[in-house]
Amino acid sequence: MYLKRFLAVSRPPPPLCVDLSVRNTLALPCRAETGRTLRSRSEALAAWAEDAPRGPVTVLGEGSNVLLPPRLPGTVWHLAALAPRFERRGRVEVFGGVSLDSLVHLACQEGLWGLENLSAIPGTVGAAPVQNVGAYGQSLDEVVEALEVLDLRTGQCAWWTARECDFSYRDSRFRGSLGAYLVLTLRLRLHRGGHPVLSYAGVEARLAQSLSPGAQARPSDLAEAVRALRAEKLPDWHRLPNVGSFFKNPQLSPEAFQQLSARAPELALRSFTSSGGKVSAAALIQGAGWRGRRRGPVGMAQQHALVLVNYGGASRDDVDWLAGSVQASVYARYGVRLEREPLHL
Ligand SMILES: Cc1cc2nc3c(=O)[nH]c(=O)nc-3n(C[C@H](O)[C@H](O)[C@H](O)COP(=O)(O)OP(=O)(O)OC[C@H]3O[C@@H](n4cnc5c(N)ncnc54)[C@H](O)[C@@H]3O)c2cc1C
Repeated sequence: MYLKRFLAVSRPPPPLCVDLSVRNTLALPCRAETGRTLRSRSEALAAWAEDAPRGPVTVLGEGSNVLLPPRLPGTVWHLAALAPRFERRGRVEVFGGVSLDSLVHLACQEGLWGLENLSAIPGTVGAAPVQNVGAYGQSLDEVVEALEVLDLRTGQCAWWTARECDFSYRDSRFRGSLGAYLVLTLRLRLHRGGHPVLSYAGVEARLAQSLSPGAQARPSDLAEAVRALRAEKLPDWHRLPNVGSFFKNPQLSPEAFQQLSARAPELALRSFTSSGGKVSAAALIQGAGWRGRRRGPVGMAQQHALVLVNYGGASRDDVDWLAGSVQASVYARYGVRLEREPLHL
């Protein structure tokens, strides 16, 4: 019995071979035991049979929405980027490892509408359904027809309809059961004849700058307008590592919305909806005095209050500490609870 315990305690932990510090946009230090790249459903099924009995399997895309621990046990899976298949009448089938931005680019080149306002969002297509990515008035669920999913608990593959994914604002069935599924393939329905979505502040004005008077906007014009707006607003994660918006915009009931408007007129909540709805998390963070404030290696960006940045050498504990401090300040000042967007792996 003592010998068994001694052996268990003294056995060296498995070597951590895969350096993931360069595979997450917040540049947190992380090493995993093993990793593999999968190129098809049959490879995923074979890998599942081999890896699942050995320990945890973690799916990682471009690491643009995760907070990684220093050590990740088990195997990290990563999907390959294979060329999307554009079919007739705007349908496209795309493997999960393709970058979302390159898919947006290709769809725009094909003259297809539906993804253009999602340009310049980092990350893979396979991860996009997890938080139902959205930006500038468009979200992924508007174009999803079906997804091919591998259940990592049973090893079974199935096609799910968009309805079965339970999409909502920055949420889905995948986010609710993290680690349970691998999204292998997306089937999207895009449109040949479409209209620009201009509802988001600044898009129309930016588009007008690049179009000659009277010209019809193409999907690629929208994609470029959004790309330019994002470059102005958000710090570049290559130079100042971050995961984009760190908190979701809180959704308030009409009563809570009115109370907040009365309590904090400086937030100018009229710019949202008078029947309640989403409130700008950036405005709340700025109002609580966190914009541009730095604590050790981390801080809330000067350029955009919603973006938590790593100035160099930050750990996940530093990030958690700062995020908790911001949440506590916003709650103390406005009575609103901020929910985090990036996921702990
Ligand atoms: C600068 C910047 C700007 C951003 N702007 C936006 C924005 O405007 N809108 C928006 O919605 N998001 C935005 N994000 C967040 C991020 O880009 C998205 O959440 C993106 O979908 C994450 O993709 P990823 O491949 O990096 O996923 P990862 O960060 O690698 O993983 C995220 C989660 O998805 C899981 N996952 C990854 N791949 C798969 C798969 N194939 N199947 C199942 N689960 C999987 C992971 O296990 C993890 O739980 C931004 C991030 C950055 C850095």
